[in-house]
Amino acid sequence: MNFEELGLHVNIIRALTDAGYTQPTPVQEQAIPAAINGRDLLVSSQTGSGKTAAFMLPALHKLATAEVISYTNAKTPNQERQSARSRGDRPRFVAAKPKMLVLTPTRELALQVTTATDKYSAYTRRLKAVSILGGMPYPKQMQLLSRNPEILVATPGRLIDHMESGKIDFSELQMLVLDEADRMLDMGFIDDIEKIVAATPPTRQTMLFSATLDGVVGNMAKRITTEPMVIQIAGSASKHENIQQKVHFVDDLSHKNRMLDHLLRDVSLDQAVVFTATKRDADTIADRLNIAGFAAAALHGDMHQGARNRTLDGLRRGHIRVLVATDVAARGIDVPGITHVFNYDLPKFPEDYVHRIGRTGRAGRKGVAVSLVNHAESMHVKRIERFTKQLIPVDVIEGFEPKKTAAPSRTSARKPQGWKPGDNRKSGYGNNSKPGQRSFSKPGSSTAPRKDGGSAYKGNRQTEGGARRSFGDY
Ligand code: ADP
Ligand code: MG
Repeated sequence: MNFEELGLHVNIIRALTDAGYTQPTPVQEQAIPAAINGRDLLVSSQTGSGKTAAFMLPALHKLATAEVISYTNAKTPNQERQSARSRGDRPRFVAAKPKMLVLTPTRELALQVTTATDKYSAYTRRLKAVSILGGMPYPKQMQLLSRNPEILVATPGRLIDHMESGKIDFSELQMLVLDEADRMLDMGFIDDIEKIVAATPPTRQTMLFSATLDGVVGNMAKRITTEPMVIQIAGSASKHENIQQKVHFVDDLSHKNRMLDHLLRDVSLDQAVVFTATKRDADTIADRLNIAGFAAAALHGDMHQGARNRTLDGLRRGHIRVLVATDVAARGIDVPGITHVFNYDLPKFPEDYVHRIGRTGRAGRKGVAVSLVNHAESMHVKRIERFTKQLIPVDVIEGFEPKKTAAPSRTSARKPQGWKPGDNRKSGYGNNSKPGQRSFSKPGSSTAPRKDGGSAYKGNRQTEGGARRSFGDY
């Protein structure tokens, strides 16, 4: 299957050729024809599987095909203002009337979607995409909106502000995309999303992308879509077979820091993301790494938008080799040079682990994901293993052996729940296990699947969700 067969406009195909896309990914193969036909979509597929193009290519196709008609009639807000002025009226702001709206959980993701859109629409020149984000100077946003962009990419909060002050009019909206819907709900955007959806015409086409389609996301999806086509791509990507995962046990902070420095000197490392639990740690560790001679920079929610953009830009250009980041700040970052992900601190939630390691191994490349774990955090690793249904091998580096041994060697001691024979070990990397590697589980820990499965975890998460946000730690 190639992009021509999916029925895309020639000018879009040209842009894809420039971008080096030779064939659609599985999610694109399914989503693009359905979306061109106007179907609502509910899509879950692994991070890095090409979801942006899965909604943006059919959208651009539809807008490019309809372009001729809309442009002969429509006046831009500037033209309208001009004629208002010539009529002697006071110049006023005319609301932007986008045809497509993409909602994303973070500013970084919104910018990434906008950048991808610019790339895909390189030969459909009249189509403009702009991002409306928290932290962007107001005059700049007004200027962007006054260009009456066809495509608006926004985080929910800031968009609501503009809607309420009459700067955006959704009466001509044709397509609504919720990218990383599960994350948006996690971040507490549900009311904002409902408000935004309610302001759009019921005739719109809705496309929702999420890591999972059950629970809260599923309920919302049901309310906002009409007879959606459900696309769920599991496949090998969901096991992250291209990402080599490891756990290194550490005794204390100084051991952890020495180990990190050692690992960052790995010759196979191009660029890395180091995840920390707090913004303060992100700053401290970035400073320390810089002093140690690594080109490091921090990325977290306390930084001004300008600084965040500069950091991401530096990362993309390769000036920054080590990004030290918190979960939300680094969500969805797509930089091909990231070969390594380090969990300096383990994530609070197993889903975040999956999002973190997905920063490497983009578009089928190989990647390495290393977690530096205190002995006391073994339970945390188990929760992650239960969630991903994969064992993470424990590795020991010569000269960096932990003083405490994690567990006596019992390679076959325990299988995570849902594990099937051959599930894990036959995936290339599993075979690399050296004799010294072992599962960290303690002898005598239950080998039977828990009756309550992951639900205990889920319950826990709901009570902690609100608290987590109020820490303001992103
Ligand atoms: P997701 O949203 O599913 O995490 P993205 O849309 O961010 O994934 O895409 C991941 C990477 O794959 C991006 O760098 C993108 O440019 C690249 N990509 C997407 N589709 C293709 C394709 N058909 N061929 C080659 N690369 C692609
Ligand atoms: Mg995405």
